[in-house]
Order: sequence, then structure tokens, then C-alpha cells
Amino acid sequence: MPRCPSCGWTPNKSAKWQCNKCNTIFNTFETGGICPQCGEFFKKTQCLFCGACYPFEDWYEEDDFFYEKIKKREDDDVTIFGEDEEFRI
Ligand SMILES: [Zn+2]
Ligand SMILES: [Zn+2]
Repeated sequence: MPRCPSCGWTPNKSAKWQCNKCNTIFNTFETGGICPQCGEFFKKTQCLFCGACYPFEDWYEEDDFFYEKIKKREDDDVTIFGEDEEFRI
């Protein structure tokens, strides 16, 4: 589910973007950021709600991704603690 990285708006099926090359109106998330008329790929997608412009893949960042990052950081801390313990022994 795509989501605006700025405001959290989730585009539904009726959300439409306009190709700035051929003016075709289409849903960019249904076509994978590609204009169905001229084949232009849009690297950035503008949020229709807050107007922020983000790279297409940023719309697909999921919470899981952030949890993975936080988890990894915690794991690192545990490792450092473990090393200290070993050192004391
Ligand atoms: Zn186009
Ligand atoms: Zn937004």
C-alpha cells in the first residue's frame, strides 16, 4: 500500500496524476509510475494531499522497514554489551 512519506495519505484507486509529457490522466500507483500513454517513467510522485514530492519507492516504505532498523540498532548494543562482559571475564 503506497503511503505519502510526509503526511501518510494513502492514494485510492480514484486518485489521478497527469503526465507532464502527453497530459494523460492516470493512477501512477496502478501503472508503477509509468505513463500508460507515452511510457514516461516518473521518478518522483507528488502527494495530492500535501503536495510533497517523493521518489516513487519512498511511497512504499513500510513500518516493517523501520522496525528492522531499530531492531538492528538494538542488536548492535547487545553485541557491545556482550563484548564488555567477555572482557571482564
Ligand atoms: Zn505520458
Ligand atoms: Zn502527503
